[in-house]
Amino acid sequence: MLTDTVSSSVEQTVIDTAPRGLFIDGEWRKTARTFPVFDPATGDELCTVADADAADGLTALDAACAAQPDWARTAPRERAELLMEVHRALVADSDRLGLLATLEMGKPLDEARREIAYAAEFFRWFAEEAVRIDGGYMPAPTGGSRFVVARQPVGPSLLITPWNFPMAMGARKIAPALAAGCTCVVKPAEQTPLSMLALAEVIAAVGVPAGVVNVLTTTDPAALMTPLIHDHRSRKLSFTGSTTVGKQLLEQCARTVMRTSMELGGNAPVLVFADADIEVAVDGAVEAKMRNIGQACTAANRFLVQRDVADLFAQRLADRMAALPMGRGTKPDVVVGPLIDADAVAKVQRLVDDARARGATVLTGGTAMDGPGTFYPATVLVDVPDEAELCHTEIFGPVAAIGVFDTEDEAISRANDTPYGLVSYVFTESLRRGLRVSEAMETGMVGLNQGVVSNPAAPFGGVKESGLGREGGPTGIDEFLETKYIGVRL
Ligand code: NAD
Repeated sequence: MLTDTVSSSVEQTVIDTAPRGLFIDGEWRKTARTFPVFDPATGDELCTVADADAADGLTALDAACAAQPDWARTAPRERAELLMEVHRALVADSDRLGLLATLEMGKPLDEARREIAYAAEFFRWFAEEAVRIDGGYMPAPTGGSRFVVARQPVGPSLLITPWNFPMAMGARKIAPALAAGCTCVVKPAEQTPLSMLALAEVIAAVGVPAGVVNVLTTTDPAALMTPLIHDHRSRKLSFTGSTTVGKQLLEQCARTVMRTSMELGGNAPVLVFADADIEVAVDGAVEAKMRNIGQACTAANRFLVQRDVADLFAQRLADRMAALPMGRGTKPDVVVGPLIDADAVAKVQRLVDDARARGATVLTGGTAMDGPGTFYPATVLVDVPDEAELCHTEIFGPVAAIGVFDTEDEAISRANDTPYGLVSYVFTESLRRGLRVSEAMETGMVGLNQGVVSNPAAPFGGVKESGLGREGGPTGIDEFLETKYIGVRL
């Protein structure tokens, strides 16, 4: 096991041994062009990786299509065993893989290791689900014939993932696709390609056949993916990323009426009622806000606190946030790593400045750090009016914006006043209020007295402009299955 203080030689070895080519049809391929991957904590270049073009994309889709019939015919138990092997390999290698994620994405090492464990858990969960694909048999209401209902793999699938959970977002798609009997072409984000390439290496090493999983890295996602999305052989697009890009892809998918799963942006409200346990609420707030340095779709975006406890809650939260150690994710105890790039820091600063100009007060933080690296301190703002831009935009940074409410109805109506609907958080010690408010939240998920909802065994996903479909949980595999009805005359 690596110690928490990672030496530069260990870092270098992890980078030097990480795959950097395209993974197509079971082989690593070089490309004429490459692009750099940076460490956001230092701004230093870590390495370069292959830069795929449209022709590489079609080669990968050819491979996925060629592998599809055999993979669909592979016994579910055999598919399950391979997925379980991936689970074990990820757990065994979580120090190395966690460090790779920290280096390319910036999150603290402990958090990165937890991401690898989370990714591994998807492979275990879907190994268990692979052998439970069921169907139906029923008499027609008119008698005579019978209805046989079968569920079959949807077919070659395109999987596009963001940079903020560079391995887990891929695992959350690849594991159910493989469990269902689908092959795939995976395209990770250009900021963090190394973790997905490393996952491809693990998947190949346990014996998943060539062509079943193909991974392409590129600087031009539209040029690479548009021809694949328009290709009739692609049967499914599963996308995790911003709502803006998700909408563009939905339009593209209309052309072939392709099935889609969309895990998009969020704008999570956190409601703290006066009857909450304030320590539980502050713990939950720090978790919901600071996971991934605020760069999570599930990140708390707006805090609404009932007037009687608003000052107390804000001060406790500010004290906790101000004490969080900031630095490079490889250093011990760091909680606040860098943001992904300079644009992210500039965006957060613009949102904080806008809130201040509209009357908000800074309790802690509020000013970007000087380089090297792209750091923004944990920040708490109070008296944030609903008109502030950060109440309507995904902040994607370590900024807690607090406003005050008086009544339950007011809190619900302000919380739901957004086109997003991924997750909300509710803190109250009243069971009745907790359930009443949770039911009233227009979100796919609610954290009731807890600041983290992600769990491979639970259905993850949003409503409204936060997405379509659910990943994980008992229904996660359905995203990669088609239902076929066979009418049988006896
Ligand atoms: P993004 O939308 O910019 O990019 C996501 C992926 O789409 C990347 O791989 C990118 O290369 C690719 N892409 C961009 N344009 C494309 C195009 N025209 N054609 C094909 N692919 C294209 O998002 P991001 O900045 O990488 O990630 C942050 C966003 O992801 C946030 O909005 C966050 O809320 C969201 N997210 C959502 C979930 C969820 O489960 N709902 C989880 C994590 C992140």
